[in-house]
Amino acid sequence: MRRPLIAGNWKMNTDRSSGTDLASAIAGRAGDAGDVDLLVCPPSVYLASVKESLGSAEVALGGQNMYHEASGAFTGETSADMLKDVGCKYVILGHSERRHVMGESDSDVNKKTLAALDAGLIPVVCVGELLEEREAGNTAAVIKAQFEGSLAGLTADQMAKTVVAYEPVWAIGTGKVASPEQAEEVHADLRSLIADSYNAETAEQVRILYGGSVKPGNAAELLGQDNIDGALIGGASLKADDFLAIAAAG
Ligand code: PEP
Repeated sequence: MRRPLIAGNWKMNTDRSSGTDLASAIAGRAGDAGDVDLLVCPPSVYLASVKESLGSAEVALGGQNMYHEASGAFTGETSADMLKDVGCKYVILGHSERRHVMGESDSDVNKKTLAALDAGLIPVVCVGELLEEREAGNTAAVIKAQFEGSLAGLTADQMAKTVVAYEPVWAIGTGKVASPEQAEEVHADLRSLIADSYNAETAEQVRILYGGSVKPGNAAELLGQDNIDGALIGGASLKADDFLAIAAAG
């Protein structure tokens, strides 16, 4: 059985004081979350302080992005080994804001995914369609292209470890959540794509998260779908009560 993963993407929010307070509040009540894995992804400059505040609690740390090269003249970038060095276990890659605001391509995301896996990080690779793509009936084709482009060249073992996050762009930070049926349809398609590209056993192991306006009030229904194995949460992950309430629904 796949263990749910409840991941908080803090984006470019918090400062050192509010970030460490949030981490301490989550760490202090992580035991109430139930049978789920918890992950917080603070801004990179606060990773080390947040790690300290998490202490020995069962809450993993993740980066929000990284660069695919190991080191060198890449001003402003952070490598997979650097993330590992400050205690990260996961890294979010190809988030819609990286794709649509910073212009990252599937090929960029693919290089990062392979580098993260090589370094021993678990990538959380995001895919998702724009509203106009959904309205034009192109959701399945867009997701297939992003899946094939972003996850090219992984071995079956690497695929099994990788987390995929389905985040419809129109649902991120908008308050418009995908219905459980809309989300489940894409999640089931993604699992079929994995089965076709690898094998059924690998497909059964991959955790596929839903992201896009997940809140305590809609989490149980989304997380109750067969192919939804957790959530990637933006806004609601900035409040310990909301984040933990979503985790308790998992
Ligand atoms: C996200 O940041 O990945 C996200 C899904 O944001 P929100 O939960 O605020 O829609």
